[in-house]
Amino acid sequence: MTQIIPQPGIMDIALYVSGESRLPGHDDVLKLSSNENPLGCSDAARAAYAAAAADLHRYPSTDHIALRRAIGDVHGLDPDRIICGVGSDEVLQFVTHAFAGAGDEVITTEHGFSMYPILARMVGAVPVTVPEMDRRIDVDAILCAVTDRTRIVFIANPANPTGTMLTPDEVQRLVDGLPPHVLLVHDGAYTEFAAGADGGVSLVDRHPNVIMTRTFSKIHGLGGLRIGWGYAAGEIIDVLNRIRQPFNLSNAQMAAAEAAIRDTTFRDHCADLNARMRDRLRQSLIQMGIGCDESHANFVLARFIDPAEAEAADAALRADGILVRRVAGYGLPAALRITVGDEDGVTRVIDCLGLFMADRR
Ligand code: PMP
Repeated sequence: MTQIIPQPGIMDIALYVSGESRLPGHDDVLKLSSNENPLGCSDAARAAYAAAAADLHRYPSTDHIALRRAIGDVHGLDPDRIICGVGSDEVLQFVTHAFAGAGDEVITTEHGFSMYPILARMVGAVPVTVPEMDRRIDVDAILCAVTDRTRIVFIANPANPTGTMLTPDEVQRLVDGLPPHVLLVHDGAYTEFAAGADGGVSLVDRHPNVIMTRTFSKIHGLGGLRIGWGYAAGEIIDVLNRIRQPFNLSNAQMAAAEAAIRDTTFRDHCADLNARMRDRLRQSLIQMGIGCDESHANFVLARFIDPAEAEAADAALRADGILVRRVAGYGLPAALRITVGDEDGVTRVIDCLGLFMADRR
């Protein structure tokens, strides 16, 4: 038996469960379990990544200035108020590390992204999970849960895995109701799929206690490269930079991300395809008798009668070589989260679930 004992609380951290990528017996798996971009990434990003191979011996820039300028140019933001990380996960980790500690409370919601409680526990803080209302974040429930010990409130907007979204007025009411010592993290991993959403920019510009986070993993199709960013008041960004490792991003990551963010044509094409395919998938599910809320992200939540039916649907999809995500761990045991694929991918899901439902009902 080892005498090396982990710090208190570490063994309470649930291991993150990620989307599978293999199915025994299927060479041609349709992976719709991790909200990846079915079109891949922009050609310009791929070329920039390859070109970066010429400089493998060089350390990367520590301040990410070229990438921050590119993000600033495209989104009309001050680069000095942007921080970049290894996926938005790392930016969320900086935030938790910097602003919550042992015994503090971190608020997350019933069906919220599973990393939030993991991050809270990593710093010894207590995750406080508040109920949602019909799979939507409930602003009043969050405000009721705030105490003197609350340090951070995490919301994803659009939310994962429900795909639902708060209106700008609801988010404003949340910010207005928070005491000034509480930081609101407005996680915009899926912002680009929500028509007209600004990801929290206007909120950050009006409130010093809000940070928004964004990712290159979804609309930009660079999940494998791990790049994300955050935007907040200069004072907040300054704090986060103090705990960031100087060389957290590689040359190749930054080169690809810079090219990706400047390729707004590819981005808009992906958003347009997603909106059309998401609508098609949702309408088809509803016609089959499967519950499906309006989604503002690049996935839909398919709701079955009970957990057994969801499990059977998952088995039918797997038998056809299609991987989607069971979301029982998010308090949704009767649902499957299905990433919106391209035209062929969506057709395969509709055909498979159509047969499955015809058999059952
Ligand atoms: N926030 C939400 C809501 C997510 O769904 C994800 C990805 N699963 C992330 C953040 C993290 O994304 P990444 O680290 O790839 O940027």
